[in-house]
Amino acid sequence: MSILDKIGDVSRGASDKAKSISEANNLKRKILYEEERIVEIFGDIGKKYYKTRNEDPEGLKALCDDIDTRRRRIKKMRFELNGIRGYKICPKCSAEVNERFQFCGRCGARLPDVEDEDFMSLESNDYYTQNSDEFFNADSNKTY
Ligand SMILES: [Zn+2]
Repeated sequence: MSILDKIGDVSRGASDKAKSISEANNLKRKILYEEERIVEIFGDIGKKYYKTRNEDPEGLKALCDDIDTRRRRIKKMRFELNGIRGYKICPKCSAEVNERFQFCGRCGARLPDVEDEDFMSLESNDYYTQNSDEFFNADSNKTY
């Protein structure tokens, strides 16, 4: 291999890396946006419920559906983001597993694939926000 070829290889490698970093940052920004919108919609649901409790159940349902749509987007973007980094997250034990594997090395669970028929189904507490556990469980059992 000539020196020029080698230089070409190195710079190609560097630009691939730069590209995946900018793709990753782009995805992170979009995920953050969706998460912020979800938090706002939760506020809207609260207000709407308070003001129109029995008058507009359809309106409340539309807001809930909007949240589900955004959660699915987040799920897909997180999957892509992890793909750029070269791993998948085990849905059962949350281990980081090399993206080429189909099963989790720690617990044996099947790893999700974007081609799966049920990929866009939502688990009950997945993909609300990055801090979903804290956010969603914070006040649910609170007595005022
Ligand atoms: Zn696992």
